[in-house]
Amino acid sequence: MGIIRPLDEHLANQIAAGEVVERPASVLKELIENAVDAGASRIDVTAEEGGLQLLRIADDGAGIQPDDMLVAFQRHATSKIASDKDLFRITTLGFRGEALPSIAAVSKVKCVSATDAGGLGRLLEIEGGTVTADRETNAPKGTEMVVKDLFYNTPARLKYMKTIQTELGHLSDVVYRQALARPDIAFSFSHNGNQLLRTPGNGDLKQVVAAIYGTSSAKAMVEVKADNPDYTLTGLTALPVETRANRNAVTVLVNGRYVRSQAVVQPLLQAYHTLLPLHRYPLAVLNLNMHPTLVDVNVHPAKLEVRFSKEAELRGFIEAAAKQALGSEAYIPSGASVR
Ligand code: ADP
Ligand code: MG
Repeated sequence: MGIIRPLDEHLANQIAAGEVVERPASVLKELIENAVDAGASRIDVTAEEGGLQLLRIADDGAGIQPDDMLVAFQRHATSKIASDKDLFRITTLGFRGEALPSIAAVSKVKCVSATDAGGLGRLLEIEGGTVTADRETNAPKGTEMVVKDLFYNTPARLKYMKTIQTELGHLSDVVYRQALARPDIAFSFSHNGNQLLRTPGNGDLKQVVAAIYGTSSAKAMVEVKADNPDYTLTGLTALPVETRANRNAVTVLVNGRYVRSQAVVQPLLQAYHTLLPLHRYPLAVLNLNMHPTLVDVNVHPAKLEVRFSKEAELRGFIEAAAKQALGSEAYIPSGASVR
């Protein structure tokens, strides 16, 4: 008799969790993305102890139907794609159907969701992959996910966690990028009872930038706006007076998804030419939109990297757009007020 057999679902989820759930910030990223995909107009995030003790994400999106609730926590179960064709025209942030089962395998999850206001919803609790509570409940339209005691059953991973402060830094980063990606969604974020961010959700990117980086930084930014048959670019980039030592200063969003992309950052820096001090990066938010067939997002488990099918053309487009944005505003020596 052979000795090879498929992994049982529980074990498979634990292994997948090792890839999908690196730290509290990875949980937060997946759960915010789900809220965005559900069409939320409001997303409230609460964290305790760097997210290791508790993460709570509440949204007012479409909600999960009671009949779908258990399925949502099954491996490779998704409402977002159905055929292989869909994989090449992804319009949602999620599509792998791996987040919920992976998170539930390594924490204690409570999910409360309802699909219409005042209607009956469902509450589900899962500990380390095992359902511990499942009942009907009254809930407002939308979804509330509470993730407690992350990695409580994977001590090796827990030991690897950095300080609360470091984990909080990663959490903030996730919330900030998502808030920058979606100025039309009202985000709030608090940690250990302190409110760290609140955005108005009125669609004004400059107000989100001001909430995150401060009003004076926001004032030092100029509008970027360009399009050609393949791409549309909108956003804000700072005059050379408002720079940072870290390339994280540049937020690149491709079809609403935060990504790390040299193919976008390099041509932006090129546009500044000698105006940018050495090893400095402009504060910038670049929102790049294109037909989903022009970009492959299925490259990396965390979907942080993407591949562009016409990269050379894209680089030229970004550089020209940034040059135009910077050229249309007179450079002002540092210290002077910009507006
Ligand atoms: P994916 O996002 O890749 O589809 P997930 O495991 O993150 O996979 O979620 C599984 C499914 O659960 C989603 O496809 C969606 O239908 C549902 N879901 C998860 N979170 C939410 C939410 N906040 N609001 C509505 N539906 C949700
Ligand atoms: Mg998801």
